[in-house]
Amino acid sequence: MTHCSKQAVTVNTTNRCNLRCEYCMASSGSEQDNPITIELAFAKKGIFDAIKGVPTGIKATTLRFFSHGEPTQEMDIIKECVEYARSLNPTIRLELQTNGLFQTTEDTEWIAKNFTAVWFSLDGPKEVNDKYRPDPDGYGRTSEIEENLKFVQKYTFAGIRSTIVEETMDKQDLLVDYYHNLGVKNICLNPLIKQIVRNESGNTEVTKDDIMLFSQYFLKAYKRGDAIGVTVLSSLTFNFDEKTAVACRSCLPMPQLNPDSSVSSVM
Ligand code: SF4
Repeated sequence: MTHCSKQAVTVNTTNRCNLRCEYCMASSGSEQDNPITIELAFAKKGIFDAIKGVPTGIKATTLRFFSHGEPTQEMDIIKECVEYARSLNPTIRLELQTNGLFQTTEDTEWIAKNFTAVWFSLDGPKEVNDKYRPDPDGYGRTSEIEENLKFVQKYTFAGIRSTIVEETMDKQDLLVDYYHNLGVKNICLNPLIKQIVRNESGNTEVTKDDIMLFSQYFLKAYKRGDAIGVTVLSSLTFNFDEKTAVACRSCLPMPQLNPDSSVSSVM
């Protein structure tokens, strides 16, 4: 299915996070001093409008939890939103994008048993992931995240979103094998976009890895996935797995409800 055909409403729960990924665009130290969490009444109003198709007539059939931080830091909000969405549409699909470091074993169970799809962010084996995605005290948490992944995939669809860093740029095919050994059948490999910084003139700069270099090794990974029965995607290819006249979802009524009570479009 093309990405633009997915009718989704997204709740960006909070910008609080329990990791401090080196390249995170969202959770810089200053963001964590005053984290914002979405107001439940605002989230519910957005969910109601999206599921009922107000005012566009286009009804959301998926409720996604994403974030500028880690959505599962606010499990009570997630549960309330899910309950409300189910009261409006009992068959609504539920998707979660997470760093996989859940707060309690009860949360892990609830997530496994309620979500239709859970996408885990992981950058590869311990030696790579721990380096780029430490917790606030600088410790690597990869082993716990892998345990949570194994548990969740016993109950529901679990995929991996992996940011390609220097160490894995030319090893994307090996990453596919690594995730395959963890039992994963759907992998999304994305080029690294570094933290947005201000240069000396006060302008913001976005630093991206070389897309052609990324693509060259992505293709190898894609073929490796094909050979072993693993779907390998990238955020760069999402929308193009069938014929479409729509480039992205930004102009479609698929609202993203943000912690600061703003509504934005989603890619
Ligand atoms: S888990 Fe996500 S939000 Fe949290 S620090 Fe890492 S990249 Fe940022």
